[in-house]
Amino acid sequence: MDKSWLIRNVCEGCCSFYKPGKDEELACKGFLVLGDLTLPWDEIDMNVEEKVVHSETMANLYNILCMQCPFFDDGCDFAAERRGEPREPVRMDAAPCGGFLFLNACIDRGSIDIQALNQVI
Ligand code: SF4
Ligand code: SF4
Repeated sequence: MDKSWLIRNVCEGCCSFYKPGKDEELACKGFLVLGDLTLPWDEIDMNVEEKVVHSETMANLYNILCMQCPFFDDGCDFAAERRGEPREPVRMDAAPCGGFLFLNACIDRGSIDIQALNQVI
């Protein structure tokens, strides 16, 4: 999918880190992976309010997505908390980025198979 669609629907629509007007030059791994995927985009439910993070999907995504993300080591409170190294100030409730949440919803709703995801990571 093209970059402007992803910025509108994934960054703006799902991500608490999104800052309007800021070019996503350094993008999270979720954003990068979505750019490489072929999905039934028109059929994907974009209702961000109903995005549910299931613990099993979350654990799988953390392992295959976050660990390949440029923000994993420095720049993501969610990843820091998951590996037991919360950043200051300590929060323990940090949300994943929009790319993670969007992919999580796609997996939970059956729009994408986690194995298909593995092939582009
Ligand atoms: S972290 Fe990812 S989803 Fe969030 S604004 Fe940046 S590129 Fe977009
Ligand atoms: S939740 Fe953090 S580490 Fe995981 S893909 Fe998003 S920005 Fe990267």
